[in-house]
Amino acid sequence: MFSYRHAFHAGNHADVLKHTVVIAALKHLTQKDTALAVVDTHSGAGLYRLDGDYAETSGEAANGVARLQAPAEAGAEPLAPALQDYLDMIASFNNKGSHKVYPGSPFIMQRLIREQDRLKLFELHPTDAKTLAANIAQLDAGRQIAVFREDGFEGSRKFLPPPSRRGFLLCDPSYEMKSDYERVLTMVGEHMKRFATGTYAVWYPIIPRPEAHDLPRRLKTMATKAGKSWLHATLTVKSSKIITNTDGETIRPGLPASGMFLINPPHTLKAQLDAALKQLVVRLAQDKNATSTLESGG
Ligand code: SAM
Repeated sequence: MFSYRHAFHAGNHADVLKHTVVIAALKHLTQKDTALAVVDTHSGAGLYRLDGDYAETSGEAANGVARLQAPAEAGAEPLAPALQDYLDMIASFNNKGSHKVYPGSPFIMQRLIREQDRLKLFELHPTDAKTLAANIAQLDAGRQIAVFREDGFEGSRKFLPPPSRRGFLLCDPSYEMKSDYERVLTMVGEHMKRFATGTYAVWYPIIPRPEAHDLPRRLKTMATKAGKSWLHATLTVKSSKIITNTDGETIRPGLPASGMFLINPPHTLKAQLDAALKQLVVRLAQDKNATSTLESGG
């Protein structure tokens, strides 16, 4: 059940998209003084080493965050503000000029919340939950941050709606199990019934699987029926085709694309992502199939 370890994927193109969106959304949501409840249903370990065995084995960060960190070519346009915010966030976890540490969503969120806000973190993998708890304990954040070794689909119910009626939920499953797609829809649907004004952000992989294809379509229907605004961003970095090389070996492309679907997104997010996605296509492209989409409604 638990073969997925985010340490292999930390800082890949999917993390770049997801974390850029999370930072831009939270920067907006923390402008109002009223307390914000932030929930991360699938947290991972919280902090990763990009020079460690996992990341070096996969090499995924090299085609993700590292491409943005590389010095821009002479005459290149400045980075879009949302991408600069993302890079500044990653840099704040590293000594100047070093790129060894990559923060996962819990630590990114922790940096953006204020004293009055609360952060609830769920992680089910025994090792990653233990690492997450130890990493968070070092912050001495007291009751501001809580870590639960529980199912995030279920556990998040305890915290929404929050007393302040302001909340942001990130749902970022590994989709190791086909049932995760349905569980995302059920959870978001239930939360929206009880807490219609919350901001919900769902990451999903774009892979040749009917459930993955249907997920954004069904989220869109759900938001539209509820009369809520939505924003859907996708980033493709390479072809999804399985190829056979000259030695007759089958080469699978790995994850070629992913998407973020938000319900009740901050109104500033679309313009920010528009600029960011155009640059991400150029900087993270692995072949000529790289592209992005950005749609909104409601
Ligand atoms: N959100 C993290 C980030 O951006 O840094 C990455 C999360 S990773 C994609 C998904 C995580 O969900 C894995 O660490 C996995 O162990 C955990 N997980 C899987 N099923 C879960 C469940 N039902 N509830 C909570 N965590 C779960």
